[in-house]
Amino acid sequence: MKMNRHYTEMAQSYLFSTVNKKVSEFSAAHPEREIIRLGIGDVTLPLAKPVIQALHQAVDEMGTAEGFHGYGPEQGYPFLKDAIRDYYAERGVQVASDEIFISDGAKSDLANILGLFGEDNTVLVPDPVYPTYVDDNISDGRRVIYAQAGEENGFLPMPDESKKADIIYICSPSNPTGAVYTPAQLKEWVDFANANGSVILFDAAYECFVTEPGKARSIFEVEGARTCAIEICSFSKIAGFTGTRCGYTLVPMELEREGMNLNKTWLRRQTTKFNGVPYIVQRAAAAVFTKEGMAEIQHNLDYYRQNARVIAQALEECGVWYCGGKNSPYIWMKCPGGMDSWTFFDWLLENAGVVGTPGAGFGACGEGFFRLTAFGNAEKTKEAAQRMKQAIASL
Ligand code: PLP
Repeated sequence: MKMNRHYTEMAQSYLFSTVNKKVSEFSAAHPEREIIRLGIGDVTLPLAKPVIQALHQAVDEMGTAEGFHGYGPEQGYPFLKDAIRDYYAERGVQVASDEIFISDGAKSDLANILGLFGEDNTVLVPDPVYPTYVDDNISDGRRVIYAQAGEENGFLPMPDESKKADIIYICSPSNPTGAVYTPAQLKEWVDFANANGSVILFDAAYECFVTEPGKARSIFEVEGARTCAIEICSFSKIAGFTGTRCGYTLVPMELEREGMNLNKTWLRRQTTKFNGVPYIVQRAAAAVFTKEGMAEIQHNLDYYRQNARVIAQALEECGVWYCGGKNSPYIWMKCPGGMDSWTFFDWLLENAGVVGTPGAGFGACGEGFFRLTAFGNAEKTKEAAQRMKQAIASL
């Protein structure tokens, strides 16, 4: 019996368990203090009404002989793939329905897509980074190298000839930094990938937060991306599907490596190892793209966007460097007073009763930074921003 020993090489993740432990200890010691959590990465608003209606209707259909759905197409129902195709077309990005694969969320596909690639490939991930990219590759035995991000490059690492890799991860808008690439910056990555035969895995889970003109929402806005990129996206943040589970992956027809077509290979993989997303969930996801669905969803996104503005404004008023917050639900701030990430965590809890996430938990380059999120309640977020401002001003 041989186990996959690579699992023993994965770093233990103490980030959120340590945060929770510290908060519980603080609450126990100060039961009178109200703590506001700006650390959560989960959405809080309920599903939109058109989504709920679509769910109810699909459930009722399933109880009738005519409307019952058994196994569906593994790659997703055409009604949802066509709706996603149109969602891209509205912003001038042409993708075909058979380049779209419906999944139960971005996290699964980010891991599963790696099955297309050999284990002796080198992988380039940004630092700081959504930790899953690293763990997915370490557990498969791939070598991981890092593209360092910092204040000097606005937390948007650019291609570096000394750091060539077979697989390149790009997350834009980024978790944890909220930084967003422009199409011109992505073009540099696309040219680099095409020149080196690399494949870019573009995580667009937060694309719906991009409102500023001139910022990219999809890698396929960039010429040349169809021969080097796969885009992975999700309904989690656009429509609050973190518990409902639905996402999609775009694999262009032109993408080929070593004589293998990646779209055909992914189709083969999915039809072999996956049996599709529930019909009722796909109906709910399709409702996101209806006129009524999109109107309510934009309203919800505006709620989070306003929270992000409130936090960003408070930081601006106390002269703290930050990025994100404009096209992202994440605000990535520099810890004031030269504090390291965990010292600032403790200090902020003690002095403002506000909880965030220490940047060091997202990689070595996150040290000295701190992530705040806009997914909370608006009143509580205002209160937290006010408290932070007062506490930082007193430093
Ligand atoms: N990608 C990024 C960058 C994320 O932050 C998350 C979740 O927080 C995911 C992917 C996972 O999304 P899903 O809920 O679709 O699995």
